[in-house]
Amino acid sequence: MGNNHATKISLLGDMPAFVRADISLQARVVCDAGCDLAGTMVRVIDGGDAIVGEAELLYTSDGQDTITDVFTVKAPMNAGEYTWRAVYPAQECEGIRHDASETPFSFSVRPHSLSLSVWGIPFPVARGGKFPICVSASCTAGCSLANLPFTICGDRGEEVFAGRLGADIKEGTASTYWAALELNAPDDEALHKWTYRCALPESDHPHTARTAPVSFRTDAPPEHTLEIKIVDGYENRPLEDANVMVGFYKAQTDARGIARICVPGGTQELRVSKENYVPHNALFSIDRDQTIEVGLLFQPML
Ligand SMILES: [Zn+2]
Ligand SMILES: [Zn+2]
Repeated sequence: MGNNHATKISLLGDMPAFVRADISLQARVVCDAGCDLAGTMVRVIDGGDAIVGEAELLYTSDGQDTITDVFTVKAPMNAGEYTWRAVYPAQECEGIRHDASETPFSFSVRPHSLSLSVWGIPFPVARGGKFPICVSASCTAGCSLANLPFTICGDRGEEVFAGRLGADIKEGTASTYWAALELNAPDDEALHKWTYRCALPESDHPHTARTAPVSFRTDAPPEHTLEIKIVDGYENRPLEDANVMVGFYKAQTDARGIARICVPGGTQELRVSKENYVPHNALFSIDRDQTIEVGLLFQPML
């Protein structure tokens, strides 16, 4: 038996600050005597001395070493700080005994977090009616959230809806699960801040989730249709793409310069704006369907 060759193992690349599901590693081993160690193995050993991963040394990166491909080991389930070791076990290569070497590496495991979204609520919401809303959730590590239970709670924390996300991933997303539903609007005219909350998925990995606000304004239901025609005040030509707001309701004019808006009765403020025109504001009272024409004055921005 000749003398053993000493080895030195190291890891390529930086450990990410936090890991959630998989840890990607790439190991490099150098033999003191310059052997090609291709075909021999490296191991990953956890804090309890259990083997949690293994990879084969495949090729050299610079003629002095042998490296593995990038390989993954599963991150621990529980959040916390960990120190594991990458080990080149004592083994034979080309008939020569090679000594073991090892290098520690540390990482911290974070729980997966769910990110929640709410969209599709009309503005304003007609008081006392039903209104549509979409809710969704996705896990930072891409876990399945199929059929995950969720609730929506009202202004005082009372539950107003309980349901489940759909079974399928939302089209065009990597791992977002969602549901479209209808809620009963409060019978008032006010700003509301409700809360959307998801259950945590049943998973062997811990999850955390914040809540998402469900903000909306209730208003009297629209009763009257206004046809608002916007023209150039000098040339009487219809103006397309002018922004028209009546109270909380808004619309844009079409090619004929016309915007149609359904609004509640009563005194409302009309606001019209268009680039390069002087904005127009006026109060008026609405008690029936009406047609209104507004001439805007041309005033190019210099
Ligand atoms: Zn050697
Ligand atoms: Zn997850």
